[in-house]
Amino acid sequence: MTDIFYSLESEVRSYSRSWPVEFVQASGATQTDASGTRYLDFFSGAGALNYGHNNPVVMEPLVEYLQSGAVLHSMDMMTPAKREFLETFKDVILEPRELPYKVMFPGPTGTNTVEAALKLARKHTGRQHILSFTNAFHGMTLGSLSVTGNSMKRQGAGIPLTNSSKIPYDDYFDGETADFMWLERVLEDSGSGVDKPAAIIVETVQGEGGLRAARNAWLRRLSELCTEHDILLVVDDVQAGCGRTGSFFSFEDAGIVPDIVCLSKSISGSGLPMALTLFRPELDIWSPGEHNGTFRGNNPAFVTATAALKEFWADSAFQEQLASRINQLHGRLESIALSTSGAGVRGRGFLSGLVFDDKEAAGKIASESFRTGLLVETSGPDDEVVKIMPPLTVTTEELDRGLDLLEAAIRTVTGPAVDRGTDAEAAATPANTAS
Ligand code: PMP
Repeated sequence: MTDIFYSLESEVRSYSRSWPVEFVQASGATQTDASGTRYLDFFSGAGALNYGHNNPVVMEPLVEYLQSGAVLHSMDMMTPAKREFLETFKDVILEPRELPYKVMFPGPTGTNTVEAALKLARKHTGRQHILSFTNAFHGMTLGSLSVTGNSMKRQGAGIPLTNSSKIPYDDYFDGETADFMWLERVLEDSGSGVDKPAAIIVETVQGEGGLRAARNAWLRRLSELCTEHDILLVVDDVQAGCGRTGSFFSFEDAGIVPDIVCLSKSISGSGLPMALTLFRPELDIWSPGEHNGTFRGNNPAFVTATAALKEFWADSAFQEQLASRINQLHGRLESIALSTSGAGVRGRGFLSGLVFDDKEAAGKIASESFRTGLLVETSGPDDEVVKIMPPLTVTTEELDRGLDLLEAAIRTVTGPAVDRGTDAEAAATPANTAS
């Protein structure tokens, strides 16, 4: 039954190799395959399913909309669905946070919003150079790839990826080199040979690059440096945004206000494609149609996005529940790390995982987890991190059950629990975890 996937579909497919089953049904944190086997989904569509699969909160208005004869596809034309989304986004997200952003709809994917951000930063400043961070991931199109770290992905471009340089992310030198030493020096030195950048693009937690989480103080210094040197700060919140780290935007805790913010993945609340690029009003210098895209007007996505924002973000109840689930997750991850030699905790909020000194371990643990009914993927340049991304709506019981499966898989792969006492070094290096 799966033959066509092997004979017709390109070799480029990847998740279907890790999980070689046909998924036929999905609900909340569970997916069921064609043989009836149920899996707890702690992958959540790489962050596109923050409210779980087929959440009734978004499905009911979606089904009603689909049956109503309303417009499905609208380019960037005006529709009631788009109006309601914009009004809700303003009332529920932007105004309570006193964020002054204009809202742009780029094409509906993460890489589309990153491309729009890079183009806008270059257009606004008249500069070409962009700085991004070691182990960053920003997408697969050429502009996004040029600011991405992973060498295998970069090679896929087939051409030189130019007009960008990489700078060290938080704790890249294990605390041995002062943060931003290099950046501060080269920005001030007219002989450094580093062209003044239009923008610096950053993920507050590196979702694909190993789940390193930047400390708030580090993010604040980055933001100050950008202001001091008249460089735009772009936060790529495609994966870390929409509640993943505990607040709607991942940078809220740090108290910074980026010049440009990229959102996608869970902004639709349903897994339907949708993306936003947010920017300060003074950056709104586009000519009409200067950036466009056929699928900017995905009205079903606007409908589900509106429903999700109203349900989960209009008051603090969901965020409070999420905070307690995050504590549950981190308490358990820390205890697993303390009883597993060579393991440590990475990440922030529900964008977290376990890193292993043995670079083979994470992949084996993910395979063993799949065998026992848990979907988790790996992250990091050597796939050295098991990434744990349950839906934000996961129940305490599901979270426990998934973590039991994960711990059992870890024991199968790494051997019995050990007592590392208070040797929480790996579990608690400040830059790696910021729960
Ligand atoms: N930015 C970040 C931080 C991401 O995690 C991703 C996807 N993993 C992207 C951009 C690209 O998103 P898409 O795959 O939708 O193009």
